[in-house]
Order: sequence, then structure tokens, then C-alpha cells
Amino acid sequence: MPVAAKKTDSKWDAETPLGLVRRARRMNRTLAVAFPHVYCELDFTNPLELTVAAILSAQSTDRRVNLTTPALFKRYRTALDYAQADRTELEELIRPTGFYRNKANSLMRLGQELVERFDGEVPHTMAELVTLPGVGRKTANVILGNAFDIPGITVDTHFGRLVRRWRWTAEEDPVKVEHAVGKLIERSEWTLLSHRVIFHGRRVCHARKPACGVCVLAKDCPSFGTGPTEPLVAAALVKGPETEHLLALAGL
Ligand code: SF4
Repeated sequence: MPVAAKKTDSKWDAETPLGLVRRARRMNRTLAVAFPHVYCELDFTNPLELTVAAILSAQSTDRRVNLTTPALFKRYRTALDYAQADRTELEELIRPTGFYRNKANSLMRLGQELVERFDGEVPHTMAELVTLPGVGRKTANVILGNAFDIPGITVDTHFGRLVRRWRWTAEEDPVKVEHAVGKLIERSEWTLLSHRVIFHGRRVCHARKPACGVCVLAKDCPSFGTGPTEPLVAAALVKGPETEHLLALAGL
């Protein structure tokens, strides 16, 4: 066992920077086959709705946010609506997403800032977006990539965890991870890569028990074996609507 582990380690330790670029791009192409229909899992129809949904998604799930936003978006349609919101009413509408007092603050201040500084429109540069209440770099990249089609790498917990497992980077800080991955992957791929990695993290490469035995990335993954390698055991760990397709790719 120690001998096998050592052998495996030395293979990845010897990888050159160019080898890493090639492997990372190959993994991205493999993920594109595994997840041909990726998308932002937050529901929205315009940049303001996506900004609001992204703010609400902090410490919550996309599913929970998607259940909450239809009524919210019906009632609040413009930045001015949020700027002039009745706090109690707004808090009630967003309560299911948790931390609703803080989030109501952010949304009301967001509305005010958009009205005062940006004519009520969501701006489309990183520098401007991160000046908005409740909008950090991660959220800004979600907005740029999905509402404005401007490539952005979204480093959430799944993304950071997976790229470290893959030895794309050892960085822990999300901004450093973003820059490190940005050097490996073509800029035009950044938004789709983010979705694919997050999909893979949610459906296959779980934090505790990744489904290594049916993983399309197995050959290129330095962490193969972190989860069960027996295909039938691993198959039971795959989640989500793409399960049949993923298992077929694994030969099951
Ligand atoms: S081989 Fe295992 S650890 Fe590596 S990406 Fe696949 S599921 Fe994750």
C-alpha cells in the first residue's frame, strides 16, 4: 500500500507546468462530455434578478432560493422597488433563505446604490460589481458569466475543493484559486468550466464519499481512490438528473 501510494504520488509530483495545463484542459473537455447541458442553477430572467438570487444564496441552497424568488420577483421588479421596500414585507418574503435580516439590508442598500450610482441598472464590470452591498468576487463572477456573458471563474466551496483534489492548485484563498485556474484554462471556457466543476462536485465528487469508481475523470485525477473504486458501490453515490448518462459513460 505505501509503495502504491508512493508511485501514484511521484507520477503527479513529476508533472510539469505544461503537463498540468494539458491535463486541466483535457479534464475540462471530459467534463463537457459528462455535463453537456450546464447552466446557472439559480432561476432568473435579468441581471437584477440574478444579483438578488445570488445574494440570497449565501448560506442557503439554490433550490431554496428558487422556491423563494418567484413571489419576490413578482413584487420587486426594479432597483427602485428594493430601494423603497417595506422592510418587514421584504424580510417575510426572503425569510426561508435564512439570515433574512442581513439579506434584507443588503437588498435595500443594493437597490439604493443601483439607483444612485448606476441609473438603476446592474453594472457589468468586476470593479463596479464588487462595490455593491452583498456582492463579493464570487457573486460578481456569477453575474458577469451568466447575465452578461463575460467569462468568469466562480470559486464556491465545490470548485475550490475539486481543483485542489485535482492538484490544479494548492491555494485555499478563493481569489488565488481563481487566478491559478485562470492561467490553466482558456478564458472563453471560464464560465462553462465553473458550472461543470460545480455540477461534478454536486453529483459525483462529493466531499466525503466521492464516486471514484464511476468517475469520468478517474485517469486524470490524483485523488482517485478517495472514495470507493468499486463501480457498483460508487454508482450508488452518484446524484442528480444526469445519473443515467454518467453511469453509461462509466460503462454501466
Ligand atoms: S476520481 Fe474521485 S476524487 Fe477524483 S474527481 Fe473523480 S470522484 Fe473526485
